[in-house]
This record gives sequence, structure tokens and C-alpha cells, in this order.
Amino acid sequence: MLTGKTAIITGGTRGIGLAVAKTYLDNGANVAIAGSRQETVEKALAGLTRYEGRVMGIWPDLCDPASVAEAFASVRAKFGSIDILANNAGVSSRTSLYDYTLEEFSKIMDVNVKAVFVCSQAAARIMKEQGGGVIINTSSMVAEYGQPSGCGYPTSKFAVNGLTRSLARELAKDNIRVNAVAPGVTRTDMVAALPQELVDRISAGIPLGRVGEPQDIANAYLYLASDLASYVTGVTLRVDGAAMT
Ligand code: NAD
Repeated sequence: MLTGKTAIITGGTRGIGLAVAKTYLDNGANVAIAGSRQETVEKALAGLTRYEGRVMGIWPDLCDPASVAEAFASVRAKFGSIDILANNAGVSSRTSLYDYTLEEFSKIMDVNVKAVFVCSQAAARIMKEQGGGVIINTSSMVAEYGQPSGCGYPTSKFAVNGLTRSLARELAKDNIRVNAVAPGVTRTDMVAALPQELVDRISAGIPLGRVGEPQDIANAYLYLASDLASYVTGVTLRVDGAAMT
């Protein structure tokens, strides 16, 4: 479904981002995994040797426009284009408002919002020149409901929805589609660390009866990146088993 396309996936070293990377590679794309550190990027690449020649790693500071522009230029130099940007890197926290420091709030907004702005701007400049492209952001089910602690995380994901809708309207004229995926509780490292009893309780409260797997989310990323979604832009697609909290 993506043969001949090149995708950059931020936070592609593990969890949902790594599942998106593998799914894109399995569907013929060239992939650049963007991580925060060279060491974790190289560890992820070591598990992707069967795709040799179609996968590379970058580790720019996602909040620094110059660093991102340089890294994206290196991807374009290797593969010839940048057709898909998956803004997936994210951090969360459950800190109470009473204990929340300004530093913690700023860090969440930097990784979850500012980096999406910086990477989207760098990619859009290239996509516009090429005649089009696709940007997919990672929202969350909490951008619908909020959450009872850790206010910075839902705040950041509401902002991601706003960026998605606004950039979709602004970039449509340049043939760039912008959408978001809003995962529910998904079995990444964070969820794997929870006691099984708690995972069972969470699962029982989800109408589809289970937490999501990274592949469930990656499938939505594949659809939105592909030509099957050629008339879909400005949408936040919920992939949460109809969870309501
Ligand atoms: P994860 O912690 O397994 O992966 C997060 C990724 O982001 C990692 O690759 C990490 O290296 C990267 N990252 C974090 N800070 C970074 C930085 N400063 N620079 C570059 N990369 C950075 O988490 P995940 O569950 O796979 O989450 C992926 C996305 O999905 C996040 O945006 C998260 O908010 C969102 N999400 C996850 C869930 C869930 O239940 N797992 C639910 C809703 C939304």
C-alpha cells in the first residue's frame, strides 16, 4: 500500500511508533525512525535488519527547527522524498495539579505539542515542494474526556487535535492531508508494567473487552497514510474499542 513512499516516524523506537514503522516497511515504504537518542535508535534498527536498505535512523532534537530540518534533509537525501510524517513521540504523567511543576508541564507541552509543530513545519515545506504528502499526529482518548490527574497530558492532546484540524485546512491547498489517531489504552511498555489484575479491570470496562495492541493502532496509521484515505483530512480517528473514560 505504500510502495515507493518514504515515512518519518517520531518515537519510532518502541511501542506504537515501532509497530507503525514495521507496518509501513511491510507495506513497501522506506522508513526513518526518529528517536531521542542514537543508542535507542540503533537498538531498534538492530531488530529491523530484514528491511536493510529501506530503513534508517535519525535523532534530532524535535523541538529545534534547525536540528529537525537537517535530519529530515538527510532522509530526503537517502530516499529521495518525504511523503509521510507520523508525529508519534509522546510523554505522559499522572502528577496531581498540586504537585505539578512548571518544568514538568513545559516538558509535556514540548514533546507532545511543540515537536509536532516543528516537525510538521519542516515536513510540510518539503511536501509542498514535492506536490503533496500526509501528516499523521498521535492524539489520545483523553483528548475527549480529560483525565482525573496529570492535566498536562490531556491538555497537550487537545492541542494536537487543534493543530490537526487547523493544519488540515491550511495545507489542503498544497495537497497535504493532516489527520490524527487517538488510541485508547494500548499494550505498550507502560501498560505491560501494570499488574494483570488491573489490566483485566481496565479491559472489562472497554466495550470491545480488551486493551488495544500496538498493531491495532498501526493499522489506522496505515489506512490514513495510504491512498484509501485520499479524501480524509482534518479527522481524529478514535481507535479505542469504544472506551468511555
Ligand atoms: P512509549 O513510551 O512506548 O513510546 C514513546 C516514544 O516516544 C518512544 O519511542 C520515545 O523514545 C519517544 N520519545 C519520547 N520523548 C521523546 C523526545 N523528546 N524525542 C524523541 N522521541 C521521544 O509510548 P507509546 O504508548 O508507544 O506512545 C506513543 C504515542 O501514543 C504517544 O504520543 C502517546 O501519548 C500516545 N498514546 C499512547 C497510549 C497508550 O495507551 N499506550 C494511549 C493514547 C495515546
